Amino acid sequence: MGGAAGVGEAVDQICLLPWGTRGGDVQRLYRAARRLQKAPLTFLGASRLAEVVRAGDVVLLLTGAGDASELPGGETDGPLGVAVLARALHLGLGARPVVISEERNLDPLRAVLEVTGAECSLLPFPCGQEGAGYRLLEELQPTTLISVEKLGPNSKGVIHDMRGRDVSASHASVRGLFDGARDRGILTVAVGDRGNEVGFGLLVGPHVGPQLRSARCRCPCRGSIGCDIRADVLVVSSISNWGAYGVVTCLQALTGRRLLHTPEDEAAMLGAAIVAGARDGVTHALTSTVDGANLKVQQAVVTLLGAVQ
Ligand SMILES: [Zn+2]
Repeated sequence: MGGAAGVGEAVDQICLLPWGTRGGDVQRLYRAARRLQKAPLTFLGASRLAEVVRAGDVVLLLTGAGDASELPGGETDGPLGVAVLARALHLGLGARPVVISEERNLDPLRAVLEVTGAECSLLPFPCGQEGAGYRLLEELQPTTLISVEKLGPNSKGVIHDMRGRDVSASHASVRGLFDGARDRGILTVAVGDRGNEVGFGLLVGPHVGPQLRSARCRCPCRGSIGCDIRADVLVVSSISNWGAYGVVTCLQALTGRRLLHTPEDEAAMLGAAIVAGARDGVTHALTSTVDGANLKVQQAVVTLLGAVQ
C-alpha cells in the first residue's frame, strides 16, 4: 500500500500506541473495526470527508462524555480532537464547522477552540430533549456529522460511562441526531476508544462481546456498555483525541496542506481546557493529562503524526 493510503497505515498504528491497562480492549476493537471496514480507519475517515465536504458546507462536530457530578466541565479527551478537526476542515476543505456539546462542557470547548483559532460556532446540545438532535439538523442543514468521544446509548437506551454506570441523565440524546443523519444521507464519522461511544454500533451484536472484555454494565439494565449507534466510518484509537488527530494527518496527505497542530499547540490547548474546568476522564483530576496520559505523551503522539509522510 503506498501513497496517501500508506500514510493511513502508519497513522493508525501511531493512534493505537498502547496506553494504560485497556490496551488489549482497544486493539481488539480496532481489529474488529478494521476487518469490517477493510482500510486504515483514519484514512477512511479522511477520504470520506474529502469526498463529501464542499466549501461552505456546515459540518457538525459533537463531543461530550462523563457524569456531571464527577466531570462537571467534561473531560480532556474529546474537546482537543474536535478543535483540531474543526480547524482542519475549515482550512483544508473550506467547511463551516459547528461544534455542539452539553451546556456544562461549553467553557472548556470555547477555550480550546480559541487557542486553535478555528473559525467555528459553538452551540449547546440540550439534555433531556429527544427531539433536540432532529432540530439541530433542521436548523443547521449539515452535510457531515462527526463525533469524537461522545457517549451514546446501548441497545436498551442506557448511556454508560467506562465503569459501567448509568450516566444517561448527564448526556444529550444522540439517537435522533444519528437517525436523522441517516434519513438525510448525511455522512457520519465517529471516533472512540472504549466502545461506549457513538459509532461502535458497527461492532455491536456478535462482535462487541468478545472484543470488549470490560463491556459489562453495572446498572439495572443488565446490558453492555457498548453503544449501538452506528456511523458510516468508525475510527478506533487508544485515546479519542489521537484518532481525530490521525484523521487530520490523513486529510493533510490528501489535500497537500499543513493541517495538523504542533506539540506546542497541544500544550496550550490542554492548559486552556484545564483552566476552563475540563478534567482527566480516567483519573477525574484537574491535571494536564488525557485519559491518564501526561502532556509529554500527548505531545509525543502529535510529534510522531507530524513526522508521517
Ligand atoms: Zn446498564
